[in-house]
Amino acid sequence: MLSSHARFYTSNGKRRLLVVDDEVVNRELLGLILGEHYDVLYAENGAQALEIIYQQHAMLSLVLLDLMMPEMDGFEVLKTLKADESLRRLPVMVLTGEKSAEVRSLDMGASDFITKPYEQPEVILARIQRTIELAEDRYIIQTTERDELTGLLNREFFYRYVDQFDLHHPDQPMDAVSMDINHFHLINELYGWEYGNKVLTQLGQELMRLATHSGSMAGRRDGDTFLLYCPRGTDYCKWRDALMRVLSESGNARSIYLRMGVYSGFDASLAPERRFDRAKVAADRIRGRYTEFLSRYDESLHHDEVLRERLIDDMDEAMRGGQFIVYYQPKYDIRGEKPILSSAEALIRWRHPELGMISPGVFVPLFEENGLIQKLDSYVWRAAARQHRLWRDTFGLSIPISVNVSRIDIYSPELIPHLEALVKEFEIEPTQLYLEITESAYAKDGEQLIATVRKLREKGFFIEMDDFGSGYSSLGMLSDMPIDALKLDMQFIRNLDKNPHNLRLLEFLMDIARYLQVPAICEGVETQMQLDALKRVGCDLVQGYYFSRPVPPEEFEAFIKERIAQC
Ligand code: C2E
Ligand code: MG
Ligand code: MG
Repeated sequence: MLSSHARFYTSNGKRRLLVVDDEVVNRELLGLILGEHYDVLYAENGAQALEIIYQQHAMLSLVLLDLMMPEMDGFEVLKTLKADESLRRLPVMVLTGEKSAEVRSLDMGASDFITKPYEQPEVILARIQRTIELAEDRYIIQTTERDELTGLLNREFFYRYVDQFDLHHPDQPMDAVSMDINHFHLINELYGWEYGNKVLTQLGQELMRLATHSGSMAGRRDGDTFLLYCPRGTDYCKWRDALMRVLSESGNARSIYLRMGVYSGFDASLAPERRFDRAKVAADRIRGRYTEFLSRYDESLHHDEVLRERLIDDMDEAMRGGQFIVYYQPKYDIRGEKPILSSAEALIRWRHPELGMISPGVFVPLFEENGLIQKLDSYVWRAAARQHRLWRDTFGLSIPISVNVSRIDIYSPELIPHLEALVKEFEIEPTQLYLEITESAYAKDGEQLIATVRKLREKGFFIEMDDFGSGYSSLGMLSDMPIDALKLDMQFIRNLDKNPHNLRLLEFLMDIARYLQVPAICEGVETQMQLDALKRVGCDLVQGYYFSRPVPPEEFEAFIKERIAQC
């Protein structure tokens, strides 16, 4: 707040005023009254006044303007100021002796007037001070409630005005709308920030126009997310067309695909933030689906949201109560005559007391979003390290165990010391703990990830790239990647059933693994036919329901016993 006020003072600590009057006596008289309190500039006519204003408007607090002047009169000056966007906020008090001129100048945007002949100095000073303070307050409010780039209400004030709107229009049904641009970050990257900003500004201005004409409100949440509060029944396709038209006309519609999420029928007691969060959830459902523009928040989304909240709430209790259980799925070496158990993958399960068994496909992405995954992963790693040690002690056989490492774990400076402490505590070899890192993680933050993975390998850990081939890394990148095994995405096996020509693709992936000199692992193997095909193309290891689903550790022991019997 301090800095907002500071800009209203000149270096000598006084506000600066401009007195515009053609008569020297009047200028001097006002100078006498004001000089002690203000830094006063003078102009003799309208043209001179405008020149000073153009140069100094940022430092000027008020203009005292005589109306009757030769050549350019005060009305003309007032008209020019009010027509100029950057000068409009500068308050003007007119100096006049005529009642009719007072009214006319107020109509034209003057803030107040001082009647000639001048009244008592205290009265003049008080009126001037009040006018300046009012203008400054208005300026502060405007700059804090508006988003600088687009001029729309910012998020905080938008929500406040939604509350006020509801208060004054309790019977008007409204929609909460959240609007985004698909892949806006890519547009910024491809065409530059300046282009991105131009698009946002134009969208903002057109939204403001549309809102004003329809009894709606528009704001900017952040980035490329806009907020709209519109009467129910608004035709959003028309809005989209109007927005796209404005962008097209200025040649800025390149790669712009808008998407809107609409939430209707909410309870008046639901906080505005929550209404617009839901509208955004609806908009996010169609993220990247370029042919779809409008998505409405419905029961199924509501159900998902409630479930997500429930799972987040229940997580701590579940950790304490042992509801998370680690299952193990065997991986088999298929290079020889008979498949041989080679290792296991640790896969988490949640046995929820009320919701039953929940798949990691439901809660892992959710916990990745809010960082809870770190806690869960380290729980799984610990369980896996303990299990490895237990089996080694029980069966005299070292079965390496793979654990999944989420992208978020990689950012943690604790990752390496944590894993080192773990292998030390259970006295196991780091080479026996395999770390599965999904391919998409490599693509997102390549450099940092690669540096961390290199260090992990130096410490002896074995790195498997999970879900390989899901389409993120280029072949060029691959040769620099520190990995010890390639684990192919399940889709390749799925596609094999659909079209035998996909065998070529599989062969190609095997070539990549050979080129990188690492074993290829195929997961999702369910049938004999798939297994035979994989053997033919030279796959090294397989994992899948054909051999076993992920099972609790006690059940896994049967595979270890079988392996021992094979020796
Ligand atoms: P993933 O690491 O790629 O794990 C493979 C998934 O494929 C597992 O699903 C496994 O049960 C399933 N699967 C294995 N063989 C077959 C098969 O023959 N047919 C079919 N249809 N599926 C098969 P799951 O256990 O549901 O895990 C799903 C994903 O959740 C995992 O994919 C992994 O990304 C994640 N996940 C599981 N446990 C953890 C964990 O402890 N931490 C982290 N960060 N992620 C985990
Ligand atoms: Mg995995
Ligand atoms: Mg996988």
